[in-house]
Amino acid sequence: MALVDRTRELEALASERRPIGWDGLTAAEMLTESERRFAQTGSYYGLTGELELKSGDPIRYEKLFSRVRGGLVSARETALNISASPIVKEIGELCFALYTPEGDSVALSTGIIVHVHTMSDAIKHMVRNEYEENPGIAPGDVFTNNDAMIGDVHNADVQTMVPIFWEDELVGWAAGVTHEIDIGAKTPGGVPVGPISRFEDGIDLPAKKIGSRDRLWRDHVLAGQKGTRTPMYWTLDERTRLAGCHMVREAVERVILEEGIDTYKRFVREVIEDGRRSFQSRLREMTVPGRYRAPAFIELPFAKEEQLPSYARVDKLFHASVELRITRDAVLELDYDGTSAWGYHSANCTPSSMQGAIWVQLTQTLICNDKVNDGAYFGLRANFPPGTLSNHANPNASTGNAWYFLIPSFMGFIKSLSRSLQARGFVEEVLAPYGLTANAFQGGGVTQYGTPGATTNFGLSCVGGGAKMLLDGLDYGAAMWNPEGDMGDMEMWELIEPFLYLGQRVKPNTAGPGRHRGGSGYECLRLAWKTPFFEMQNLGNGRVFMQSGLWGGYPAACGYRHNVRDTDFFAVVERGDPYPVHEPDPADSALARDVQGRREFDLETTTLPHAMRQGDLYLCMFRGGAGLGDPLERPYEAVMEDLTGDFLLERYAESLYGVVPGNREATEALRARRREERGREAVPVREWMEGERRRLLEGDLIEPIKRMYAESLRLSERWAAEFRGFWDLPDDFDFEVATPEIDLTRQLEAQA
Ligand code: MN
Repeated sequence: MALVDRTRELEALASERRPIGWDGLTAAEMLTESERRFAQTGSYYGLTGELELKSGDPIRYEKLFSRVRGGLVSARETALNISASPIVKEIGELCFALYTPEGDSVALSTGIIVHVHTMSDAIKHMVRNEYEENPGIAPGDVFTNNDAMIGDVHNADVQTMVPIFWEDELVGWAAGVTHEIDIGAKTPGGVPVGPISRFEDGIDLPAKKIGSRDRLWRDHVLAGQKGTRTPMYWTLDERTRLAGCHMVREAVERVILEEGIDTYKRFVREVIEDGRRSFQSRLREMTVPGRYRAPAFIELPFAKEEQLPSYARVDKLFHASVELRITRDAVLELDYDGTSAWGYHSANCTPSSMQGAIWVQLTQTLICNDKVNDGAYFGLRANFPPGTLSNHANPNASTGNAWYFLIPSFMGFIKSLSRSLQARGFVEEVLAPYGLTANAFQGGGVTQYGTPGATTNFGLSCVGGGAKMLLDGLDYGAAMWNPEGDMGDMEMWELIEPFLYLGQRVKPNTAGPGRHRGGSGYECLRLAWKTPFFEMQNLGNGRVFMQSGLWGGYPAACGYRHNVRDTDFFAVVERGDPYPVHEPDPADSALARDVQGRREFDLETTTLPHAMRQGDLYLCMFRGGAGLGDPLERPYEAVMEDLTGDFLLERYAESLYGVVPGNREATEALRARRREERGREAVPVREWMEGERRRLLEGDLIEPIKRMYAESLRLSERWAAEFRGFWDLPDDFDFEVATPEIDLTRQLEAQA
């Protein structure tokens, strides 16, 4: 007995551990308490009435916020220099944020702020699942996550989280995220198009402890090096995030040393409630309550992909049924009821990624100059129905390329919000939909150095911005997911990609036409160089506009594919003949004329990777943004400038804008004729609807569209009732088409 008692004594250490939360609570108890207070009062942490610190000493309060925010920004600016990945170092695809012990964000740095809320989800997951007890949360510990079902967009966004302690109490978390250039998925890159299940999404880190005493555990470091095609970038990005988190922690410690722990604790509560209130007052001030709808679409043509299993070889059209509601008491509601089903591809999303995307849209619209933190999260309600693309709710589904759904659908969010801003008179804030950040020049294989490698070229973060009410959209400088578009230097990309740039220039006709046109896209012609093989995918819309413009503005152009294999390029160069450097007009193309080879020149703009080798050519076309207002109202001078700037091909000046170049009078006459023609050709809405109704009843639609409607009808009774009511269809109207993903969702729901 005595021996047993002795061993029990030795083991007592673990059970006697004191809770790490405030006032003797565990972190999980703190989270429960915080949620209880919010549910009860509608205010963050139950802070109703005056905010003591803010109103008692407003200057000190603002200084505190600025110091914390400054600490985060400088952590980002310093830490990114540790990285070698062009995505992180050149383009700044990283961000840092500070959280409360429960995981609510207090403040954030600049950068890829889509992740401020995803990391909140990840911290809350660890707190809620009692990580405090096992594996333990102690000073100096390091945690990581890249699981979108826990809190992320896709595996390529890797998070590092470090708890911040003051004496024996957890006072917060510092967290940072970087987007990896390759995540070791089934196909190369950071937005892999190949995975059809979670098991092909690459390195998998579902909220794990990976270090202690401020150092990463060696087993984790060594495992990481085996999980990706780009181990050096991976390792340095890990260090980047860890160093940034430690800088944030130090900044917080300095603030606490000078201001006292009680002030700090009060501050983090008040600043989130302050964020919530200012978000609501902005909503109240700038928008009109109501229901706004802007559905979005994008194609996924996988039937042609012979290497996929039969169940994944399906042509799909995604329907994002985006509805934004602004309530009378200034709550923002986002509803995806009626959205298409998840599927065997990598474009599925989780609620966490959807919340992240809301975030990055809000910071570019309503809360661009306020205290940005999780306060805004507490001011909105969202519905992402299980089984849809917005919430796949399937433990086996892939999210590798979640942006392929997020981008089109969130342009519906921007469009809806813009209508509301316009209705209230805030016309300078209006934005038409941005461009799809595509094509993704992405692949992997053997590099010009003869070593294995992979890339995702982030030139895609510079597509066209949406047209504005008073200005054209930003040309080749916008990405909806990162407010600081930067295409990086060509020389940097050439260092890591076995493809030379033959040319990079404006791509005519990519901008959506309108009174104000969308921002233009651009294009690069790349020559495979010193590589025996590098498998390259194509990724982007080719047949479907993802969003129309605003108030008569046209959508931005879709893309096309023009790649040539087994070329005679070097023979052309040898002869001293001119070789192509770009393709301003695909109908009159030097690339088609002057270089011979196996040519892919079509609308297959989303494909699995196919090998290219030295001498092959890849045309990478980046999309433009949508237009605003009637193109016939675009000033003559503006259209002439579009021609001189190569934003528009001359023959389209007439067909799109009714402009006769060089002749103002003829322009006026042509435009008058165009308006007349429109009147003559117009069909009464009643007639048009009758025709469309007949098509629905007769099933006169291509298979992917039938399937799309069937999925929406079967996933949402509300949407189905509205659809059938609008088109005056029978109560049991449906299409005869199988929707196996929905059947599986029902099974999963029944088991849960
Ligand atoms: Mn990412």
